[in-house]
Amino acid sequence: MTAADLLADLDEIQPWHVDFYQDLHRNPELSFQEVRTSGLVSERLRTLGYDVHTGIGGTGLVGILRNGDGPTVLARADMDALPVREATGLPYASTATASDAEGHQTPVMHACGHDMHVTCLLAAAQLLAEHQQTWSGTFIALFQPAEELGTGARAMVDGGLADVIPKPDVALGQHVMGLPYDTVAARPGAALSAADSIRITLHGRGTHGSMPHYGVDPILLGSAVVMRLNAIVSRELAPGHFGVVTVGSFQSGSKSNVIPETTTLLLNLRSYDDHTRQQLRAAVERIVQAECAASGSPAPPEFAYTDPFPVTQNSPDVYHRVSAAFTAHFGEKAIVMEPSTGSEDFSDIPNALGTPYLYWIWGGFDPDTYHRAEANGTLGTVIPGNHASTFAPVMEPTFRTGTSAMTVALMSYLAHTT
Ligand code: ZN
Ligand code: ZN
Repeated sequence: MTAADLLADLDEIQPWHVDFYQDLHRNPELSFQEVRTSGLVSERLRTLGYDVHTGIGGTGLVGILRNGDGPTVLARADMDALPVREATGLPYASTATASDAEGHQTPVMHACGHDMHVTCLLAAAQLLAEHQQTWSGTFIALFQPAEELGTGARAMVDGGLADVIPKPDVALGQHVMGLPYDTVAARPGAALSAADSIRITLHGRGTHGSMPHYGVDPILLGSAVVMRLNAIVSRELAPGHFGVVTVGSFQSGSKSNVIPETTTLLLNLRSYDDHTRQQLRAAVERIVQAECAASGSPAPPEFAYTDPFPVTQNSPDVYHRVSAAFTAHFGEKAIVMEPSTGSEDFSDIPNALGTPYLYWIWGGFDPDTYHRAEANGTLGTVIPGNHASTFAPVMEPTFRTGTSAMTVALMSYLAHTT
């Protein structure tokens, strides 16, 4: 019995998954507020016979299925949605609103496809539960809060995950992206970047706009900083070495004739390895401090690091095993993934458990449309990126591909070898 035999049963669970997915999509929940979603997931896992542990790191939960001797395999899905107003026009589009962490009312949308991840992992969990004669070992289905903040995986680790699950031999995760819906892509080594956000406060000395010589202008200081920061990647990283330094926000002042007291910059850094990550951070701090000295800033700059995402570094061993199974199942639609500049906190879980892992992506969009757009150079406008208000994977066969990929990967470790 192979993964393909299990997947032959996918059609039988069809009515379940359509309703479930559309219900999740219509009722998205913000990071760490996934109360309804985790309730639906745990109810479903219990019905399937899983040993369910809830409330791990807030709304996180695991379902464990013990089925004799064999490897222990963990698969993870994230559950949270984004503060985005949905513009897909779908009949099951979200009109939900919620209160964000600052207490502001905001529209909420599953703009990153996490509702699809949850549905596919539950479908794989059902196939494994209903075909226990085909495999042996222990399967852990893990549902994580707050991926979008980069802190949900860490919250589950800190919330005692290791105390309620057996140590996994391997961990698996997947994400739906802007690829054709028949395509699955994985790569060994660095697959997704590490990310840091930094809030930098620069201190000037406020004064009348007509008397700049009495003050220190934090806007001029901030401008010099921004210009210099943009030279880190072009002048300090070795050519061909990946790094991103983006200044996403520059806030200062309120009136034309007032030189303000401070400037606040919000930066985002990306890298594929720790050495580069440290190099970028050090260069940012050095430049900011030097520019503050150059301006005669009256107080040292302040650096607050937020939203840290680890690098996603796929194990070559897990990659070779799972990608061979992908190729056997998907043929030429199993491709090698380009390294993505996006980031994920999934690897915080296997890293904390000392477990090798594989994280792959699959597509959610019509292949003809995709390939036409690719040929025209209009991919970015025709296929909406994750987090866009129009991001909507085609329900079928995206669900089938995602469930198949997860089941094939799980069975590459758990299936009986005959
Ligand atoms: Zn996202
Ligand atoms: Zn996502």
